[in-house]
Amino acid sequence: MITLDPNLQKALVTRVSDRIIAHTDELVTLDQAIGDGDHGLNMKRGFEAVMADIDRISSQSLADALKTIAMALIMKVGGASGPLYGTLFQSLGKSLPEQLTREGMANAFAAAIDAVKARGKSDVGQKTMLDVLAPLLQTLREVNDETLFVRLRATAQSASEATVPMKATRGRASFLGERSIGHMDPGARSSALIMFAILDVLEGKS
Ligand code: ADP
Ligand code: MG
Repeated sequence: MITLDPNLQKALVTRVSDRIIAHTDELVTLDQAIGDGDHGLNMKRGFEAVMADIDRISSQSLADALKTIAMALIMKVGGASGPLYGTLFQSLGKSLPEQLTREGMANAFAAAIDAVKARGKSDVGQKTMLDVLAPLLQTLREVNDETLFVRLRATAQSASEATVPMKATRGRASFLGERSIGHMDPGARSSALIMFAILDVLEGKS
Protein backbone atom coordinates (compact mmCIF):
# COMPACT_ATOMS: atom_id res chain seq x y z
CA MET A 1 0.00 0.00 0.00
CA ILE A 2 1.16 3.53 -0.76
CA THR A 3 0.56 6.35 1.70
CA LEU A 4 0.53 9.74 0.03
CA ASP A 5 1.43 12.97 1.78
CA PRO A 6 1.83 16.44 0.22
CA ASN A 7 5.60 15.92 -0.16
CA LEU A 8 5.25 12.60 -1.98
CA GLN A 9 2.43 14.01 -4.12
CA LYS A 10 4.62 16.98 -5.06
CA ALA A 11 7.57 14.69 -5.81
CA LEU A 12 5.45 12.46 -8.07
CA VAL A 13 3.90 15.29 -10.07
CA THR A 14 7.21 17.14 -10.36
CA ARG A 15 9.13 14.05 -11.50
CA VAL A 16 6.53 13.12 -14.11
CA SER A 17 6.41 16.70 -15.46
CA ASP A 18 10.21 17.05 -15.54
CA ARG A 19 10.59 13.69 -17.29
CA ILE A 20 8.09 14.52 -20.02
CA ILE A 21 9.60 17.99 -20.53
CA ALA A 22 13.13 16.50 -20.68
CA HIS A 23 11.99 14.12 -23.42
CA THR A 24 10.25 16.76 -25.57
CA ASP A 25 12.64 16.33 -28.51
CA GLU A 26 12.43 12.55 -28.46
CA LEU A 27 8.62 12.66 -28.48
CA VAL A 28 8.69 15.22 -31.31
CA THR A 29 10.97 12.95 -33.35
CA LEU A 30 8.74 9.92 -32.77
CA ASP A 31 5.66 11.89 -33.80
CA GLN A 32 7.46 13.29 -36.86
CA ALA A 33 7.95 9.72 -38.08
CA ILE A 34 4.30 8.64 -37.97
CA GLY A 35 2.27 11.74 -37.09
CA ASP A 36 2.53 15.52 -37.30
CA GLY A 37 5.45 16.00 -34.91
CA ASP A 38 3.62 17.87 -32.17
CA HIS A 39 3.36 15.24 -29.40
CA GLY A 40 6.51 16.39 -27.55
CA LEU A 41 5.54 20.06 -27.61
CA ASN A 42 1.92 19.25 -26.76
CA MET A 43 2.96 17.27 -23.70
CA LYS A 44 5.60 19.84 -22.69
CA ARG A 45 2.99 22.63 -22.77
CA GLY A 46 0.60 20.53 -20.70
CA PHE A 47 3.08 19.58 -18.01
CA GLU A 48 4.45 23.13 -17.83
CA ALA A 49 0.88 24.18 -17.02
CA VAL A 50 0.74 21.46 -14.36
CA MET A 51 3.99 22.73 -12.82
CA ALA A 52 2.70 26.30 -12.83
CA ASP A 53 0.05 25.03 -10.38
CA ILE A 54 2.29 22.66 -8.39
CA ASP A 55 1.79 24.30 -4.98
CA ARG A 56 -1.98 24.00 -5.23
CA ILE A 57 -1.78 20.47 -6.63
CA SER A 58 0.55 19.35 -3.80
CA SER A 59 -1.83 20.56 -1.12
CA GLN A 60 -4.99 19.13 -2.68
CA SER A 61 -6.47 15.71 -1.92
CA LEU A 62 -5.30 13.09 -4.40
CA ALA A 63 -8.73 13.13 -6.08
CA ASP A 64 -8.70 16.91 -6.49
CA ALA A 65 -5.04 16.98 -7.54
CA LEU A 66 -5.76 14.48 -10.32
CA LYS A 67 -8.74 16.57 -11.44
CA THR A 68 -6.57 19.71 -11.54
CA ILE A 69 -3.92 17.85 -13.57
CA ALA A 70 -6.58 16.50 -15.92
CA MET A 71 -8.00 19.98 -16.53
CA ALA A 72 -4.54 21.41 -17.24
CA LEU A 73 -3.84 18.63 -19.75
CA ILE A 74 -7.24 18.97 -21.44
CA MET A 75 -6.82 22.76 -21.72
CA LYS A 76 -3.17 22.86 -22.75
CA VAL A 77 -1.99 19.68 -24.49
CA GLY A 78 -4.37 19.69 -27.42
CA GLY A 79 -4.15 17.12 -30.21
CA ALA A 80 -5.61 13.69 -29.67
CA SER A 81 -3.48 12.98 -26.63
CA GLY A 82 -4.64 15.96 -24.51
CA PRO A 83 -8.26 14.84 -24.10
CA LEU A 84 -7.13 11.22 -23.74
CA TYR A 85 -4.55 11.84 -20.99
CA GLY A 86 -7.05 14.27 -19.46
CA THR A 87 -9.65 11.52 -19.41
CA LEU A 88 -7.16 9.07 -17.89
CA PHE A 89 -6.27 11.38 -14.97
CA GLN A 90 -9.87 12.59 -14.54
CA SER A 91 -11.08 9.02 -14.19
CA LEU A 92 -8.26 8.13 -11.79
CA GLY A 93 -9.29 11.13 -9.71
CA LYS A 94 -12.83 9.81 -9.55
CA SER A 95 -12.05 6.20 -8.72
CA LEU A 96 -8.76 5.95 -6.84
CA PRO A 97 -9.62 4.94 -3.26
CA GLU A 98 -8.33 6.79 -0.18
CA GLN A 99 -6.36 3.69 0.78
CA LEU A 100 -4.03 3.06 -2.13
CA THR A 101 -4.00 -0.73 -2.06
CA ARG A 102 -2.77 -2.63 -5.11
CA GLU A 103 -6.27 -3.92 -5.79
CA GLY A 104 -7.84 -0.48 -5.38
CA MET A 105 -5.28 1.05 -7.73
CA ALA A 106 -5.79 -1.72 -10.28
CA ASN A 107 -9.57 -1.25 -10.27
CA ALA A 108 -9.23 2.51 -10.68
CA PHE A 109 -6.66 2.08 -13.44
CA ALA A 110 -8.98 -0.37 -15.22
CA ALA A 111 -11.82 2.16 -15.10
CA ALA A 112 -9.49 4.88 -16.39
CA ILE A 113 -8.32 2.72 -19.29
CA ASP A 114 -11.96 1.97 -20.17
CA ALA A 115 -12.65 5.72 -20.13
CA VAL A 116 -9.74 6.34 -22.53
CA LYS A 117 -11.03 3.58 -24.83
CA ALA A 118 -14.50 5.11 -24.83
CA ARG A 119 -13.19 8.61 -25.46
CA GLY A 120 -10.78 7.46 -28.20
CA LYS A 121 -13.11 4.87 -29.71
CA SER A 122 -10.02 2.73 -29.54
CA ASP A 123 -8.73 -0.51 -28.12
CA VAL A 124 -5.55 -2.42 -27.41
CA GLY A 125 -3.60 -3.49 -30.52
CA GLN A 126 -4.04 -0.28 -32.53
CA LYS A 127 -0.58 1.17 -31.78
CA THR A 128 -1.53 3.81 -29.23
CA MET A 129 -0.90 4.69 -25.58
CA LEU A 130 -3.37 1.90 -24.74
CA ASP A 131 -0.72 -0.63 -25.79
CA VAL A 132 1.35 0.47 -22.80
CA LEU A 133 -1.46 1.28 -20.36
CA ALA A 134 -3.24 -2.09 -20.70
CA PRO A 135 -0.10 -4.24 -20.17
CA LEU A 136 0.76 -2.10 -17.11
CA LEU A 137 -2.68 -2.87 -15.69
CA GLN A 138 -2.14 -6.56 -16.32
CA THR A 139 1.19 -6.47 -14.47
CA LEU A 140 -0.40 -4.54 -11.59
CA ARG A 141 -3.06 -7.22 -11.34
CA GLU A 142 -0.71 -10.19 -11.64
CA VAL A 143 2.28 -9.30 -9.48
CA ASN A 144 1.59 -9.46 -5.78
CA ASP A 145 5.08 -9.36 -4.30
CA GLU A 146 8.09 -7.10 -3.89
CA THR A 147 9.02 -7.42 -7.58
CA LEU A 148 6.04 -5.26 -8.61
CA PHE A 149 7.98 -2.04 -9.33
CA VAL A 150 10.68 -3.87 -11.30
CA ARG A 151 8.03 -5.70 -13.28
CA LEU A 152 6.08 -2.50 -14.00
CA ARG A 153 9.28 -0.89 -15.27
CA ALA A 154 10.02 -3.86 -17.52
CA THR A 155 6.44 -3.88 -18.81
CA ALA A 156 6.53 -0.16 -19.68
CA GLN A 157 9.78 -0.71 -21.58
CA SER A 158 8.78 -3.89 -23.43
CA ALA A 159 5.21 -2.75 -24.19
CA SER A 160 6.38 0.55 -25.70
CA GLU A 161 8.99 -1.30 -27.78
CA ALA A 162 6.30 -3.75 -28.89
CA THR A 163 4.49 -0.87 -30.65
CA VAL A 164 7.39 -0.59 -33.14
CA PRO A 165 6.33 -3.51 -35.39
CA MET A 166 2.61 -2.72 -35.03
CA LYS A 167 0.49 -1.15 -37.76
CA ALA A 168 -1.53 1.84 -36.52
CA THR A 169 -5.27 1.60 -36.98
CA ARG A 170 -6.28 4.57 -34.77
CA GLY A 171 -5.07 8.13 -34.51
CA ARG A 172 -3.11 10.14 -37.03
CA ALA A 173 -0.53 7.37 -37.56
CA SER A 174 -3.28 5.17 -39.04
CA PHE A 175 -3.32 7.46 -42.10
CA LEU A 176 0.09 5.96 -42.96
CA GLY A 177 -1.18 2.39 -43.02
CA GLU A 178 1.74 0.00 -43.55
CA ARG A 179 4.21 2.88 -43.33
CA SER A 180 3.40 3.27 -39.64
CA ILE A 181 5.25 -0.02 -39.09
CA GLY A 182 8.81 0.28 -37.78
CA HIS A 183 8.42 3.26 -35.43
CA MET A 184 7.52 3.45 -31.74
CA ASP A 185 4.18 5.10 -31.07
CA PRO A 186 4.79 8.51 -29.43
CA GLY A 187 1.89 8.13 -26.99
CA ALA A 188 3.13 4.69 -25.98
CA ARG A 189 6.51 6.24 -25.24
CA SER A 190 5.04 9.14 -23.22
CA SER A 191 2.97 6.66 -21.18
CA ALA A 192 6.12 4.63 -20.47
CA LEU A 193 7.98 7.81 -19.45
CA ILE A 194 5.20 8.70 -17.00
CA MET A 195 5.40 5.21 -15.47
CA PHE A 196 9.22 5.37 -15.20
CA ALA A 197 9.03 8.72 -13.40
CA ILE A 198 6.42 7.45 -10.91
CA LEU A 199 8.50 4.34 -10.24
CA ASP A 200 11.68 6.38 -9.73
CA VAL A 201 9.96 8.34 -6.96
CA LEU A 202 8.38 5.28 -5.34
CA GLU A 203 11.71 3.42 -5.43
CA GLY A 204 13.43 6.46 -3.92
CA LYS A 205 15.75 7.05 -6.87
CA SER A 206 17.13 10.55 -7.16
P1 ADP B 1 -2.29 14.23 -32.60
O1 ADP B 1 -2.27 12.80 -33.09
O2 ADP B 1 -3.64 14.84 -32.66
O3 ADP B 1 -1.21 15.06 -33.27
P2 ADP B 1 -0.54 13.87 -30.33
O4 ADP B 1 0.56 13.88 -31.33
O5 ADP B 1 -0.36 14.76 -29.15
O6 ADP B 1 -1.93 14.18 -31.03
O7 ADP B 1 -0.73 12.41 -29.75
C1 ADP B 1 -0.60 11.27 -30.55
C2 ADP B 1 -0.73 10.03 -29.69
O8 ADP B 1 -2.05 9.94 -29.15
C3 ADP B 1 -0.54 8.75 -30.46
O9 ADP B 1 0.84 8.39 -30.50
C4 ADP B 1 -1.37 7.74 -29.70
O10 ADP B 1 -0.62 7.08 -28.70
C5 ADP B 1 -2.42 8.58 -29.04
N1 ADP B 1 -3.73 8.43 -29.68
C6 ADP B 1 -4.17 9.04 -30.79
N2 ADP B 1 -5.44 8.68 -31.06
C7 ADP B 1 -5.80 7.80 -30.10
C8 ADP B 1 -6.99 7.06 -29.82
N3 ADP B 1 -8.09 7.16 -30.57
N4 ADP B 1 -7.00 6.25 -28.72
C9 ADP B 1 -5.91 6.15 -27.94
N5 ADP B 1 -4.77 6.82 -28.15
C10 ADP B 1 -4.71 7.63 -29.23
MG1 MG C 1 0.78 14.63 -33.18
